[in-house]
Amino acid sequence: MSTYLSLKTLPFWILHIACITVFFVDFSWGYVGLAIGMYYLRMFFVTGGYHRYFSHKTYQTSRWFQFFLAFMAETSSQKGVLWWAAHHRFHHKHSDEDIDLHSPKKGFWYAHIGWILDSKTEETEYKLINDFARFPELMWLNKYWILPPVLFAIVIFLLGGWAALVWGFVVSTVLLWHGTFTINSLSHRWGNRRYETTDTSKNNFILALVTLGEGWHNNHHHYQASTRNGFYWWEIDITFYVLKILSWVRLVKNLRPVPAHALNPKKD
Ligand SMILES: [Zn+2]
Ligand SMILES: [Zn+2]
Repeated sequence: MSTYLSLKTLPFWILHIACITVFFVDFSWGYVGLAIGMYYLRMFFVTGGYHRYFSHKTYQTSRWFQFFLAFMAETSSQKGVLWWAAHHRFHHKHSDEDIDLHSPKKGFWYAHIGWILDSKTEETEYKLINDFARFPELMWLNKYWILPPVLFAIVIFLLGGWAALVWGFVVSTVLLWHGTFTINSLSHRWGNRRYETTDTSKNNFILALVTLGEGWHNNHHHYQASTRNGFYWWEIDITFYVLKILSWVRLVKNLRPVPAHALNPKKD
């Protein structure tokens, strides 16, 4: 079967089709709020956990909070924590080269969802993520990544019934997939470039709102080691603000700043 349609990609498509059930369950604006709330809650763990912690190590935290970050990020149904971070590190190493998995040169849809559905990218490249692969609990979560989203769905169902499940899990998860994937597809196409990086990354205000700060993607490709992707106060970066608050209550520490030399566009 094709890259997009196989037995393994079936759950991905079934969840899309299941969005139609919004017409068969109760409607209230509260449910819409629930869908948006569960979208942004989990988007934070994708960006603050998968991306800024596990992929780039831009701050430090305790072992138990690291596990919590991984577990919550996995409720997004974007595969295992080590899989996600290893593939992302590969992207930075080879952005827009031929072997880059989600280079926009491979077409919009392949960069958006094709590379994830492709059986060629199924395995976790442990050698790219051995700093975190040494934790057995993360290896376990990576292997059984389906458990957090299933548990998340069950809890929502038990608390709110069918309508809550449809809005708070089904619709919210599908939106979260596409919101996250815009970083691979649109952020390398749509926006401005402050830094002449070797790839096609762009800065985009709208995508920064959709992804809690990841839309400052050109900044990020220019300097990956800082906790913030929005380099200036007007570059809204909610993930960074939340991490800053978490650092005040000492759940995370040593957030890495943007050094003055990295701000200068001419220094790339
Ligand atoms: Zn990155
Ligand atoms: Zn990129």
